[in-house]
Amino acid sequence: MAIPGTESHPLRVAIVGSGPGGFYAAEALLESGLQVEIDLIERLPVPYGLVRFGVAPDHAKLKSVTAVFARIAEDPRLRFFGNVEVGHDLSVQQLGALYHAVVVATGAAGDRRLGIAGEHLPGVHAAGDFVGWYNGRPECADLEFDLDQEVAVVIGQGNVAIDVCRILASPIDALRRTDIAAHALDALARSRVREIHLVGRRGPVQAKFTPKELRELGALPGWQPRVTPDALQLNVASQTELTLPGFVHAARNLDILRGFAQSPADDGRRPLHLHFHRAPVALSGEPRVERIELEAQALSGDAGAQSATPTGERLSLPAGLVLRSVGYRGTPLPGLPFDLVRGALPHRDGRLVDTAGKVLCGWYATGWIKRGPSGVIGTNRADSVDTVATLLADVAALDAVKAGRAGLCALLAAGGQRVVDFTGWKVIERAEIERGRRDGKPAEKFVRIDDMLAAATA
Ligand code: NAP
Repeated sequence: MAIPGTESHPLRVAIVGSGPGGFYAAEALLESGLQVEIDLIERLPVPYGLVRFGVAPDHAKLKSVTAVFARIAEDPRLRFFGNVEVGHDLSVQQLGALYHAVVVATGAAGDRRLGIAGEHLPGVHAAGDFVGWYNGRPECADLEFDLDQEVAVVIGQGNVAIDVCRILASPIDALRRTDIAAHALDALARSRVREIHLVGRRGPVQAKFTPKELRELGALPGWQPRVTPDALQLNVASQTELTLPGFVHAARNLDILRGFAQSPADDGRRPLHLHFHRAPVALSGEPRVERIELEAQALSGDAGAQSATPTGERLSLPAGLVLRSVGYRGTPLPGLPFDLVRGALPHRDGRLVDTAGKVLCGWYATGWIKRGPSGVIGTNRADSVDTVATLLADVAALDAVKAGRAGLCALLAAGGQRVVDFTGWKVIERAEIERGRRDGKPAEKFVRIDDMLAAATA
């Protein structure tokens, strides 16, 4: 048999997940010069993963990358299979039997936990759930966040932590002009949150957020970012880090923080406190969270590898709403190996490997499920280009007769699965834009799968 990739014997690839990693993998395959047949399989009836459900509603510019993804989806060599869940509607084994190669791009929708006492208390949530809630993710639509509380504490110092602080503190009229979910807009309009604490266990140089996002905290009307000058003192290793390539944002972050530290202690605006060198050690309250206990931390270790170690000094803060924003985790796909420590798929150069390190022929990973939840949307492009280069290097070894799309359609039809194709998604999208127009929003997303499916056939 010939090597797949020709007109009579196209390379048949399934991509699981239609977020940035999945779309960029499709783009790289379409540009490979081989004859390809790509099926992009998505659990939900709607595409775009993290861009739809992760990017903050007030960051509309970041979402414009969906225009690039839509162009990729309209290539006749690619077909979108929405509302098809691998592991539920078809198994990993069935998928592997149908395609020469499968690229898993399922992202990292789970959350990491703190592992401290009281984390289970009502009022303590994963920031990812709050993000999913305000972005209309179906699984999060019925969650409730008690915004009657006056003090919110956000744990972690990455961009997700900044996003949730900003959404909590944004003027409601600014949010009304975004595609934020209606249920979140209603709840935020009634919010009584008056004080926010953003808590990080390491220092300002090690914080993961980026300058643009940090600066936005200083532009929230009615809110004053506060940081004490003491918290911005740098040890020798941190000063060295300012010059290291892995810390490109640190000097600008520090400048912005020094600006925050210079403003008068209390100018009447609501405080948004930025705490450094403080780690959460316990949450308490009855019947819901009321306080958070923090322990002071000192940095130790070489420049570039400093960790936080407890000093024993404790501080207790009131906390009516706690959002832990300490990183996402991928979720296992039944039938594939999973690295529980990293919360990602085990791989070598993008090729999936089993627990013994043996390559699973024809299986690849890209995006957050491959490298963990790091980087911006564009980072996934280079990642997917790498994974596809690995796949293309294997093409000769992937040769076999594979039913591909015809086989997938037959299997889904036999199971009575309702599939939403890209035309169906465009119908949903138009309906969402129309719903939004009535309220002056760019879109009012459907937050229930049944409503998405109903809109696709309307
Ligand atoms: P992140 O950038 O990895 O930040 C996680 C934060 O949690 C770090 O400050 C980390 O501190 C802290 N942390 C972890 N475990 C902790 C613990 N046990 N106790 C206290 N703190 C703990 O993750 P993220 O904010 O979820 O963001 C994920 C990715 O999405 C990032 O690449 C981010 O830049 C990207 N993103 C981008 C945007 C944007 O471009 N606007 C918006 C949102 C997200 P240590 O450093 O000490 O571990």
